[in-house]
Amino acid sequence: MSVRTVTSEELEEQRIYIQKIRSAFHIRSTPPLAYVHSYGCQQNVSDGERIKGILSEMGYDFTEDTAKADLILFNTCAVRENAVERVFGNVGALKHLKKKNPDLIIAVCGCMVQQEETAKRLQKTFPFVDMIFGTHVLHTLPQLLCSIVFEGGRVLDITESDGIIAEGLPVKRESKIKASVPIMYGCNNFCTYCVVPYVRGRERSRAPSDIIDEVKALISDGCKDILLLGQNVNSYGKGTDVDFPELLKRLDSLEGEFRIEFMTSHPKDCTKRLIDVIAESSHICHHIHLPVQCGSDRILKAMNRGYTREHYLQLVDYARNRIPDLNLTTDIIVGFPGELREDFEETLSLMKQVRFDSAFTFIYSPRLGTKAAQMEDPVSSDEKGKWFRELLEVQGQCGSESYMKYEGKILNVLCDGEGRTDKKYYTGKSRQNIIVDFNGTENDIGTFVNVKITKALPWALIGEKIN
Ligand code: SF4
Repeated sequence: MSVRTVTSEELEEQRIYIQKIRSAFHIRSTPPLAYVHSYGCQQNVSDGERIKGILSEMGYDFTEDTAKADLILFNTCAVRENAVERVFGNVGALKHLKKKNPDLIIAVCGCMVQQEETAKRLQKTFPFVDMIFGTHVLHTLPQLLCSIVFEGGRVLDITESDGIIAEGLPVKRESKIKASVPIMYGCNNFCTYCVVPYVRGRERSRAPSDIIDEVKALISDGCKDILLLGQNVNSYGKGTDVDFPELLKRLDSLEGEFRIEFMTSHPKDCTKRLIDVIAESSHICHHIHLPVQCGSDRILKAMNRGYTREHYLQLVDYARNRIPDLNLTTDIIVGFPGELREDFEETLSLMKQVRFDSAFTFIYSPRLGTKAAQMEDPVSSDEKGKWFRELLEVQGQCGSESYMKYEGKILNVLCDGEGRTDKKYYTGKSRQNIIVDFNGTENDIGTFVNVKITKALPWALIGEKIN
């Protein structure tokens, strides 16, 4: 198996299927309705926008009500165990709809069904599911749907692959102001707890010119907030002549009023050069999400993370010196198999030393097919729960203190809608990627506004617009 790019001939073939479905829908007085729900990470949400783009070209409109839908599609995630169980629950709940309307098409796709065992379980448990397809065949959705519409039966396509790149798929974005742009797919790191390399294939980077053209088009359409996506953006560029810092530099040099964010970074591939590019940029957010996962070298090794606590701390020092208003966030896993109290205490001490602005914390849960799922895990879930609460307490304190430093400061905020804390406010994000609610008007939506911060909440800032 190898990574490959979908050819223009293959895409042309899919366009023929799109036309076939479009013509079949022509006789209807109203367009068919699709309900599409994406679970999990931003990458999955971005895939969901491509799925909607393809469906829209086939003639579908969209509904938020499953009872009105002609097609229900769940784009699933395999990263967290409860996400998998939630999908099984939600699919099961569709049985009565299919009974009422046998023409309803029910589809499940994404990471979760790329795992053969899960796909087969789903197929067996829910005979009313018409279509199950994995992450590597998303671009063939028109063909898969045609076979259901014109031939009936059920489809299961979880073709294994090291991964594909499909350029030129239509995208239906949720917002005019914000957009996510995948710059790479898959992952080569095989962190021992993570299922992504198994379900998303090997790391592959889009050509820099394709990314730059897409970002240029978004900016000229009025988009102001562009999120570059990849499982490990810091290792972008293999097989191209541009690495991630260079890509950021080129995007930063584009004309216009916009911001660039990116996720997710990996501490082993995050370089000083990357930090320098951010520090010297005009458009790149002063936010780095740098998942440390754990403060103990012994456990970092067992996780196969490829860096040490010392390396991480040096990176943080460098980044905070170069970008004084940096918003530094992280992910932490508590209770990895074999983690002892002393390992956990190293995580606590790292948290106290770094004082993250915010942290996403999780209790370890085993994922099917990963190495960590085979490891001895003697610590009880009660004990892990206790550690988790201790961690939350420490982080809660660091987070509140961190936001308080903004009180009295003026931040430039991209307004994107009505208030998150209160409907009397309008809301947006600062260049540090922090939520700011302020006394704006509808006219501020989609513009950059200066806001004087009057109050810090644990997860957002409140302020007054200044002219
Ligand atoms: S870097 Fe590690 S945690 Fe992130 S997607 Fe790759 S394997 Fe998973």
